[in-house]
Amino acid sequence: MTQFVEVAALIPGRLNPLDYHLPAVLEGKVQAGSLVVVPLGGQRVQGVVLRCLNQSSVPETRPVESLVDDSPVLTGAQIELARWLSHETLSPLGVCLDLMLPPGLAQTADVLVRLNPARSAEQERLSPLQKRLVQLLSERGELRGRQIEAAFRRVNWKPALQGLIRRGWVVSQPYLAQTGVRPRIERMARLAIAVEEIAQAEELLGRAGSPARERRKKALQFLANEQQPVAVHWITAASGASLEDLKKLETLGLIAFQSVQTWRDPLAELNIEALPPPLLTNDQQRVLQTILSDLSSPNNSNRKPILLHGITGSGKTEIYLQTVQHILEQGKQAIVLVPEIALTPQTIQRFQGRFPGRVGVIHSRLSAGERYDTWQRARAGLLRVIVGPRSALFAPLPNIGLLVVDEFHDPSYYQSEPTPVYHAVRAAIRYAEILGAGVILGSATPEIGLMYQARRAGWRVLEMPQRIMAHRQAVQPFMTGGHSSLLPVEGEGETAFLPLPPVEVVDMRQELKAGNRSMFSRALQRALGEVLERNQQAILYLNRLGSATYVFCRDCGASVRCPRCDRSLTYHESSHLLICHTCNYRRQMPRTCPQCGSSHIRQFGAGTEKVEQEVHQHFPQAKVLRWDSQTTRRKGAHEAILETFAEGKANILVGTQILAKGLDLPRVTLVGAVLADAGLNLDDFRAAERTFQLLMQVAGRAGRSPLGGRVILQTFQPEHYAIQAASRHDYAGFYQYEIEQRRKMGYPPFARLVRMEYRHSNAKVAETTAQEMAQRVADWIMLSSYPQTEIIGPVPCFFAKEGGQYRWQIILRGMDPASVLRGKDWGDWRVEVDPYSLL
Ligand code: ADP
Ligand code: ZN
Ligand code: ZN
Repeated sequence: MTQFVEVAALIPGRLNPLDYHLPAVLEGKVQAGSLVVVPLGGQRVQGVVLRCLNQSSVPETRPVESLVDDSPVLTGAQIELARWLSHETLSPLGVCLDLMLPPGLAQTADVLVRLNPARSAEQERLSPLQKRLVQLLSERGELRGRQIEAAFRRVNWKPALQGLIRRGWVVSQPYLAQTGVRPRIERMARLAIAVEEIAQAEELLGRAGSPARERRKKALQFLANEQQPVAVHWITAASGASLEDLKKLETLGLIAFQSVQTWRDPLAELNIEALPPPLLTNDQQRVLQTILSDLSSPNNSNRKPILLHGITGSGKTEIYLQTVQHILEQGKQAIVLVPEIALTPQTIQRFQGRFPGRVGVIHSRLSAGERYDTWQRARAGLLRVIVGPRSALFAPLPNIGLLVVDEFHDPSYYQSEPTPVYHAVRAAIRYAEILGAGVILGSATPEIGLMYQARRAGWRVLEMPQRIMAHRQAVQPFMTGGHSSLLPVEGEGETAFLPLPPVEVVDMRQELKAGNRSMFSRALQRALGEVLERNQQAILYLNRLGSATYVFCRDCGASVRCPRCDRSLTYHESSHLLICHTCNYRRQMPRTCPQCGSSHIRQFGAGTEKVEQEVHQHFPQAKVLRWDSQTTRRKGAHEAILETFAEGKANILVGTQILAKGLDLPRVTLVGAVLADAGLNLDDFRAAERTFQLLMQVAGRAGRSPLGGRVILQTFQPEHYAIQAASRHDYAGFYQYEIEQRRKMGYPPFARLVRMEYRHSNAKVAETTAQEMAQRVADWIMLSSYPQTEIIGPVPCFFAKEGGQYRWQIILRGMDPASVLRGKDWGDWRVEVDPYSLL
C-alpha cells in the first residue's frame, strides 16, 4: 500500500500544505516532523512532513524526492505550535515552521543556469542587461541564482533572465543549495593495549634514548591515565608527541584512532564555578512550594500559567533556578527566556553555575556552526536547560516540563520583523498548553494586559514584595555616610531585606521659575555631588525616543494636543509639522503655549551626549560612561561598558532604555531620570505603561546593597498618574488606573488590534495606496462576522519616513480584527496582529 504524507513547503508564500506519496525507498523512514525535499511546480523545495496519511485527498500525487535528515527535525508539539502561530499571526505556515529549524539545516531552492550551446549567435535583439547576463555566463560558466544576485546587486535581473530562457539563449534547472553548516568531527585516540603492556612495547618505540622514543612513550603514558578517548590535539599538546608519532603508534597497534562528533560550545571557554543554592527567604519558600505543588499535580490538561510578580531584587531568579532543578530531577527539560542576552550576562551565569554542563545558551552572536550544534544537542536531549531570547522558545527539546519567561513585560519578546510577527510570551503560554508543561511568567512590572487576563482566567498570581539585601561583602569598603533611612530591615535568619529606594519627584517648571536653566535640577546636582564625594556611582536615564518628538511648554508643562482627538501631537523633524497619529490632523509649531501664553514652547530634543556634556560642565572631575545605541554598535560593547562600570572605573553611567534591564550593580546609590515624562507623550496606547515600567526598572537599579540608594525623577508633569505611581513603587495603583483608561479608550485588553503598514518611496503613491486599502478593508469588514470592527486611519506612521520610504498605516480595532483579514490578499502590506506599539 502506498504511503502518503502531507508536506508544508518551507517557502515564504501563502501556500496550503500538499499531499505527496513516498517512493518505496523512503517507506518507513519518513515520519511527522521529517525534513524532506519535494517537487513544487518547476522547483525542488524543502518541506516538513506534517503527518502521514493512508490516503491522499487528491487523485494524483507527486513523490517525495529525498529525506534530508534521518531523525525528525520537529516534534509533534512544535508542529502544533507552528500551526497555531500561523493561524494567529496570519503568516504562512512555512515561515512559522522555519522559525524552529536551525540555520544551515534548511536548504533553499535556487536555479542553476548556463548558456545554451545551441543558442543563436546574433545579439542584436537582446537588451543591454541581457547582454551583460550572457557576458557573465560566458565568462564564468554555470551559475546559481545566488551568484548572479551577487554579481548584479540592486538590479532587477530576473525578468531579463526569463526572457533569455524563453528565447533559448539560456537553459535553467532547479537546484537545491547545500547546507553550509556541518557537524564538527574531531579526531580522537585511545590506548589499544592494556596499561600493563606499555612497558613491553617500549622496545618498538624507536632507538633507545632517542627523543622520538621518549615522545611516543609520553603519549602512551598520557593515554594510560585516561578512561575515555582523548582529542588528538590534546594528546600532542600534553605529551609533546607529534601527529607523526601518533600515526606510528597506531601502525604499531598500540593506540587506535576514532572520529567523534563534537560540539561547538559557546560556553566552553567561560569559567563558571558551580554555586550551591542559598537558603530561601520565607517569601521564596512560599512561592516555590506553590509552584512545585502546581507542577506536580497530575492534571496536565488544565494547568494554568503562573504569574510571578516580584519587585526587582526580590529573588525571582532563585525561584526559576529551583523550579528548573525540580523539573530536571523528573527527567524533563526546561526553556528559560530572558530579555536580550547581551544585557543579561548575570542571569546566564547563574544558570550555568547551578547546572554546569547542562545549559545551552542561544543568542544572536552565535556562529551558524555553534547554533547548529546547540540545536542538535538540544534535540538529542544532551542539553537539559536552554537559556536565550525569544527564539530559544523554539529549541527542539524532546521532553519539556517547564517554560520560564523572565521580565515578561520586556518589548524584546515581541518580534516585529521579519515575519512571522509574533509575541513570544503568548506563544510560550500556548506552547505550555500543548505540552502540558508549566509556564512561569515573572516580572517586577507585569504587562497590564496579561495581568488582567491572569485575574480573569484565575491564573495563579504570586507576589514577592520584599527586596533581598545582597552584596554585603562587596560594598564594605564604601560604607561611609549612608542615608539613615536606608538601613536594612532585619529579616529572618541569614537574609536581610532592604526597603525600595525613596523616590523624589522634582517639578522642572519650578526649576525654570527659580532661574535654573540647566538640564539638572538643583536636587539632582546636589545628589550627584554627594555620590562623587563618597566615591559611589550614579545612573542617569534618558528616554531618547520620547524626548526628541515631545513638544511642550516649559512654563506650564502642557503639551500640544489634537483639537479633534485630544491626543498629543508628534513633532516631525522632516516637515517641522505637528501631526496627530489618530486622525492625521496637522499644524505648524505654535509660537505660544495654547494653555498659558508662554513663549517657552519647544521640543525637548536632548540626547545622551548632551547629558554627558552637562555632567562635565557641573563636575569636571567625574568619569562618565555613555551606554546607548551609538556606543554599543561594536560587538562586545555592552559587556565592555558594563564591566568598566561594575569595576568602578567610572562614576556616572548615562544611558537610554538599555539601562532598564536587570543590572545588579551594588555601588549605584543614585538614579536620576533626566526627563521622566518623555515617553508619556508618545501617541501610543502603551505610552503610560511603558513609561511606568521603565521608571520602575531604572529606579530598581539603585539601592541594591547596604549602601542604600535614592531616585530622582525630573518631570514637567509631576501630577501624571504614571509618574506618581512610579514614585511610590505602586504597581497596584498604576494597574487600577491604567486598566480603567484602557477600558474607556477601548484599547487592549478590551479590544484587539491589527496594524497594517505600507511603504513606498513616493509619498503620493504611499498615501493613495493607503486610502485604497482602507476602502477595501472597509468592504471586508462589512462582509465579515465582526462588522463592528473599526478602522483607524489611514495615517502616516510615527516614524513617517524610514530609509527613504514613506510609511502609512491602518489600524483595525475590535473583538477579532484578524478574522477580517484571514484568507484575504493584502499584497505587500505588512500585517501585525496584536501589535506591541502603534508607532
Ligand atoms: P530578581 O530576579 O527578583 O531581580 P534575584 O534573584 O536577582 O532577584 O536576587 C537579587 C539578589 O539577591 C541577588 O544578588 C541574589 O543572589 C540574592 N539572593 C536571592 N535569593 C537569595 C537568598 N535566598 N538568600 C540570599 N541572597 C539571595
Ligand atoms: Zn504653557
Ligand atoms: Zn486627531
